[in-house]
Amino acid sequence: MKSQFEVFLRLKPSNNQSQNAMQYQIYQNKKLQVLLPKHVKFGMINNSRDNLDFNFTHVFDQKSSQEHVFTNVTTPVINSFLDGYNATIFAYGQTGSGKTYTMSGAETWQLRGIIPRALSYIFDEIDKRTKFEYKIYISFMEIYNENAYDLLEKRHLETPLEQWNKIALFEDDQNNIHLKNLSIHQCNNEQEGIDLLMMGNFIRQVSSTPMNQSSSRSHCIFTVTLEGCDTTSETCFVSKLHLVDLAGSERISKSQVEGNLLNEAKYINLSLTYLEQVIIALNERMKGANRQHIPYRNSLMTTLLKDSLGGNCKTVMIATISSENDNIEESLSTLRFSQRVGQLENEIRRNEKVDLEAVVKRLEQEKLALIRELEQYQRGGTSTSSNKKIQQQQQQNLLPQSSGIPISQKEIQEKVELYLNERIPLLDVKSIEETQKCFEAMKDLYNTRMKEYVTELTFISEKLQKYDEILTRKKEQSSFLEQKENSSPEIEVYRRNESPQIQFKKRPNQ
Ligand code: ADP
Ligand code: MG
Repeated sequence: MKSQFEVFLRLKPSNNQSQNAMQYQIYQNKKLQVLLPKHVKFGMINNSRDNLDFNFTHVFDQKSSQEHVFTNVTTPVINSFLDGYNATIFAYGQTGSGKTYTMSGAETWQLRGIIPRALSYIFDEIDKRTKFEYKIYISFMEIYNENAYDLLEKRHLETPLEQWNKIALFEDDQNNIHLKNLSIHQCNNEQEGIDLLMMGNFIRQVSSTPMNQSSSRSHCIFTVTLEGCDTTSETCFVSKLHLVDLAGSERISKSQVEGNLLNEAKYINLSLTYLEQVIIALNERMKGANRQHIPYRNSLMTTLLKDSLGGNCKTVMIATISSENDNIEESLSTLRFSQRVGQLENEIRRNEKVDLEAVVKRLEQEKLALIRELEQYQRGGTSTSSNKKIQQQQQQNLLPQSSGIPISQKEIQEKVELYLNERIPLLDVKSIEETQKCFEAMKDLYNTRMKEYVTELTFISEKLQKYDEILTRKKEQSSFLEQKENSSPEIEVYRRNESPQIQFKKRPNQ
């Protein structure tokens, strides 16, 4: 299924200096027309233009509330995430234009942003969808100077950023990316999710070294992973929701930085430049150019967001701009970038897989039932060899040996896959030959999946063995150490009011 990228625009409220305000018009909440000030007009190639138009899925004006933004941007994205599709929402704009305000929010519960609202929405929705059993996992990372760090690692509270373990990336044979040194936390309710968000933001704050004074220099990725199993069939799915707060998009010339800061600015601008290059390459490919290579691997951020940018993911961008003329060049750059992103589309599919264990169990039960039926049938003596012959003849009359219409192996495979995934209720076959081919395809598929399953099981059992070893080691150590009983769980260490960045008040009772 094709999924067009959606691009939203949010204008940050201005500082009320009308002489410095950007001149613009919004048409039908979808088009922004910027009236160019003189100095910008001269800087442009075609200086005869007085204004520029930019189109969006929706333009949020300066008065738009957090709730309004959430409802319009996020609700459809999260619904598709809950249905089993990967999704990404990323905020792009210069420092101070409202990316963090939009994604995480401000101090009060009322001003909370997309991430906490998404958590509430997800848990409310899964409570309603009783046909599925869900598990939710959260991870939170920061990319800073081309290194990625875990923001949910408790030990990072006591050590400076320089000593943190970096997240390592591995790519497997199927080009799937795996991450090492990134913790994943199972999350049972909204409050646990918000605690994790706050813990991450808090760790990000305390990690601030002179080199990392401002969060504007790093990218943040908050990832929710959803595992859903249909309780009435044997299908499960896993989907991922990335909520991304990118570093400030301002150009290096304007940031006027030196030394280490210059180094940082270089990295930030480089990764955003690489993001732009990926978008350009994808655009060219969409327009029919022969572009096999998309430069995802040039930066960590584009590697991590490879699927979001050009793969199996429903992707949404929120461009944030300030409403002052001082920032017009940066705003125009954000607006132009957003137009390129808006032209892209991804091919998305549900990340569904059959629960093989359940299938085997069902087939075994069916086999037993059939054996029993056969025994009963034979005992009853209703089946004589002459009867059988007649039945065979009748079947041959109904189904010809060959339908005369050639059907490819690929078509057969697709049909069988659809049938096994319960997308079609019956396997429609036109001939005995086709029936035989279907059986062959089923056998192949069964063998492949069994192999995958065995590999997965081996992997899990190796992991379990490792855990066992760690556990045994831990037990041995603890017999030497005096430990307090009932120590409080990890997350609870970080109570909300300890976070200097975002301090949500308790959610009012509804
Ligand atoms: P960024 O993350 O893009 O650098 P921030 O989100 O930190 O920018 O925003 C800078 C400041 O502007 C913050 O104090 C934030 O609360 C405020 N702000 C941003 N957007 C809005 C908005 N739409 N409404 C009210 N205040 C906003
Ligand atoms: Mg920010």
